[in-house]
Amino acid sequence: MRRSMLSLVLLPLLTSFYTAAEQRPELSKHIEQVMPKVISWRRDIHQHPELSNREVRTAAKVAAHLEKLGLEVRTGIAHTGVVGILKGGKDGPVVALRADMDALPVTEQTGLPFASKVVSEFNGQQTGVMHACGHDAHVAMLMGAAEVLAKQQADIAGTIMFVFQPAEEGPPAGEEGGAKMMLAEGLFANPAPSAIFGLHVWPGESGQIQVKTEGIMAAADSFQITVKGKQVHGSSPWRGIDPINVTGQLINAINLIPARQIDVTKAPAVVSFGQVHGGIRWNIIPDDVKLEGTIRTFDTDMREDLINRMAHTSEHIAKASGAEAEFHVHNFAAVTWNDPALTEWAMPSLKWAAGDKGVASVKPITGAEDFSFYQQQIPGVFFFLGISPDGKALSEVAPNHSPMFDVNEDALVNGVRALTGLALDYLAKPPATE
Ligand SMILES: [Zn+2]
Ligand SMILES: [Zn+2]
Repeated sequence: MRRSMLSLVLLPLLTSFYTAAEQRPELSKHIEQVMPKVISWRRDIHQHPELSNREVRTAAKVAAHLEKLGLEVRTGIAHTGVVGILKGGKDGPVVALRADMDALPVTEQTGLPFASKVVSEFNGQQTGVMHACGHDAHVAMLMGAAEVLAKQQADIAGTIMFVFQPAEEGPPAGEEGGAKMMLAEGLFANPAPSAIFGLHVWPGESGQIQVKTEGIMAAADSFQITVKGKQVHGSSPWRGIDPINVTGQLINAINLIPARQIDVTKAPAVVSFGQVHGGIRWNIIPDDVKLEGTIRTFDTDMREDLINRMAHTSEHIAKASGAEAEFHVHNFAAVTWNDPALTEWAMPSLKWAAGDKGVASVKPITGAEDFSFYQQQIPGVFFFLGISPDGKALSEVAPNHSPMFDVNEDALVNGVRALTGLALDYLAKPPATE
């Protein structure tokens, strides 16, 4: 009874919403018109990449563009972050769209006419700098969406917040940065958005949008273990405590935790060691060994459980040999958690952007995103945009962070459509809250 009444009320609303999402030829025309600019912005930013927390030129370009569009512009948030506020002509909710701006310490090898020749310093080393993760495309697409949406200002019922974020790849050693720092500096305080959307260019069929509900990218933690023994001559190990032997046992025992102690039917979990350092000479058992690695999880409880087990295992394996183990964890990103209700709500908008067949589901990705910190505060949806060259097998496509990574520019129109469509649809008809 309750259900049938509800569907009677909702049906006309939903029908009109879907119809609106399917049509909008005017909006499509405006987006087509802005695309040559989007592509030239992308190439310019690509040729002038800047490392995390150093996005000075990029931020100035973004701010100048948003100012020209008549938006309220805030700069210098979390070092170089830029926020544009578009207040619509009518009252309504606030929605945020996000692009990340930073490049990577990678020497470009694409041979593109607008390839980067920039060299910079990263953690004390000279390195080539490249937009090897496609954040150049993210910035250009969001600048394009801002231009299209600014044209609709009088008709917009609500406010759109454009977030241009620094340091998604992680700030340099010893610095703060990224989404966490923007939030700490009051990003969501005034105005307070009730939803956020963001995308990432990714190997996949050009223009295809890939999305999944709940955990789409992993939480990323680094861990450090210091095994403390007692230095002694290698000829007489019984006189000391051998931390190298403890390390051997520890690596095995920790690798067995996801395999033997974690419910793998719930969500995947990965533990990988990346560094092992110990010793200086063949006949000296050293005082200590340092290990580092990463943990990737898709479930908050599983993450906590895994970390506790790793700490417990380190302590007890070391103790068994009379050694000590110090265990530390640093969290880089939470799970990129797509709110189920908002993801379901977003499907018609994404289909408007890429066509019914242009939206596909995706498996969880063990990479991580600091977009996850926004999603800890408000519901958000993060999705991928396929940017592989036409007619090339996915196995042959250079992945993100490769010196050969490239973006198929024909795909970018669907990214601008998705960002524009999501913002307009959200303000026109946000998902019902309980
Ligand atoms: Zn990246
Ligand atoms: Zn990225």
